[in-house]
Amino acid sequence: MQMTAIQDEDSKYLMHAYGRFPAALVKGKNATAWDVNGKKYIDFTAGIGVNCLGYSDPQWVAAVTGQAAQIQHISNLYYSPITIRAAKQLCAASGMARVFFGNSGAEANECAIKTARKYSADKYGPERSEIITLKNSFHGRTVTTLAATGQDMFHEKFTPLTEGFAYAEPNLDGVRSAATSKTCAFLVELIQGEGGVHPMDKAFVQELAAFCAEKDLLLMVDEVQTGVGRTGSFFCYQQYGIQPDVVSAAKGLGGGLPVGACLVNEKCADVFAPGDHGSTFGGNPVVCAGVSEVIRRVAQPEFLSEVQQKGNYLREKLEAMPEIQSVRGLGMMLGAKPVCGAPGKLASACVQAGLLVLTAKDVLRFLPPLTINRAEMDEGLAVLGKVLAAEA
Ligand SMILES: *Cc1c(COP(=O)(O)O)cnc(C)c1O
Repeated sequence: MQMTAIQDEDSKYLMHAYGRFPAALVKGKNATAWDVNGKKYIDFTAGIGVNCLGYSDPQWVAAVTGQAAQIQHISNLYYSPITIRAAKQLCAASGMARVFFGNSGAEANECAIKTARKYSADKYGPERSEIITLKNSFHGRTVTTLAATGQDMFHEKFTPLTEGFAYAEPNLDGVRSAATSKTCAFLVELIQGEGGVHPMDKAFVQELAAFCAEKDLLLMVDEVQTGVGRTGSFFCYQQYGIQPDVVSAAKGLGGGLPVGACLVNEKCADVFAPGDHGSTFGGNPVVCAGVSEVIRRVAQPEFLSEVQQKGNYLREKLEAMPEIQSVRGLGMMLGAKPVCGAPGKLASACVQAGLLVLTAKDVLRFLPPLTINRAEMDEGLAVLGKVLAAEA
């Protein structure tokens, strides 16, 4: 099919929720993708941090297709050994106590929010239900996770939103002054991804953890983008020297299958009783076969140290480009601020030239597959260098 015909049918049959780059991708191998016309692209996006093992990793494909051929879905009315295995691996990799599986990052955060409200209502009564998030945060697109998102621009067209959220500046004074007797929890990203790749200050995060512990406020970390090896540790909080009460994960967790997970510590392990929460697809066997393979590979010290090394390499090469002003982020979650040119326009030029990149606010954002190899990085960086030089 011709590209214009694809665009016409997309526009005819799909709701116009997205702006798309003019590339129809149909095939991939590790960090390389091909479009319908056979044009090749180096992928620095991993489908927005999802394909952590790259495109169509053979062992991941075998795990997922093997499970599909055994039994694809059973509902949560019965026990699922593969789901239990994935949850056990997730607990071992994180030090958390229990897991609830849903289908997306927003749903993982919805589960975190319900956990916080129920924990607090059980212990202190229903008045203590407010959750504080940070300004410039992003927590999802459902009506409640939009309310949790600390950016007005996401709220405007969809009011009234769920009540019970307040937004704090990311510093100790900010969180102290936002907290009231009604506060039950904080929900924070350690690196704000959609907000422009802004890492939180380590001292602030540790002060926040101490403040939460002192007031029995739940510390909930949204690791939907930062989790599953992305920053060079299995979860980003492991580099911040804190142990959260609740962690949400999604994006990279299934290696390309839709999954979200809400992890809780011992303190919150028994917040839910049967009937309090649920999901038809949550913990689906095929998806959990993908999750299990992802964790088996990513939660290895050698794999994680390679992520750090590759992240450092990418960062050094980006910092050395004269058209890049500064680079932020951790591991393989990087944002590069161009000296001139709008990130969106540069990203379009990159796609044209054969490189997939993301943007976030004022930066070009890089979330390559964690398995990207040196040759793919060099090829992508060369395309980026040419595009930046031409646009400068
Ligand atoms: C992407 C993202 C979400 C939303 O995840 P979905 O799977 O799109 O619902 C939530 N929080 C953060 C930090 C994210 O990056």
